[in-house]
Amino acid sequence: MALIDELVKAFQVLPGVGQKTSQRMVLHLLQRNRNGGANLGDLLVRTMSNVRKCSKCQNFTEDPICRICSDANRDGALLCVVESAADVLAFEQAGGYNGFYFVLHGRLSPLDGVGPDELGLDELVRRIKELRPKELVLATNPTVEGEATAHYITQIIDDSIEKVSRIAHGVPLGSEIEYADGGTLTHALQGRRTIS
Ligand code: ZN
Repeated sequence: MALIDELVKAFQVLPGVGQKTSQRMVLHLLQRNRNGGANLGDLLVRTMSNVRKCSKCQNFTEDPICRICSDANRDGALLCVVESAADVLAFEQAGGYNGFYFVLHGRLSPLDGVGPDELGLDELVRRIKELRPKELVLATNPTVEGEATAHYITQIIDDSIEKVSRIAHGVPLGSEIEYADGGTLTHALQGRRTIS
């Protein structure tokens, strides 16, 4: 196979990238940005071979312990469990949370062969013993599997944690109640809090 064809095929490992898009990207790099292409290749090689999972939170990092877990200014009373590294980025970009994280890289899904071992739930239990947080925030997604994962976690942790909370899933800011679906409204009501 010619190099160009191989590269067009290789780009299709990316989600949402098919034959046409891949061709366009490869030709673009060849015609207009060879340096950018070379840099991309170099970074891909280095990233794929050097990035591992943090020994404390399982988030991606090239260091044994990630930047968040090594940050002395973080609040050790809070540990937030999320499904993906993208969720950590979302919370970090939103601001307002200064505790630690634990990344599952998935959710319980027996049909797909994803069980407690695949999610590293033993590691979560170990991390809880080490950190001794006051509150465990279960921030898995409000899907059937995300809810089941959150429920399962409540079953395996010991009672050293004072509080286990679930993030509220409610009406999106700036939207109106009449347009929210039933599941969202039910969650919004269940997650209500006292304001006076
Ligand atoms: Zn970490």
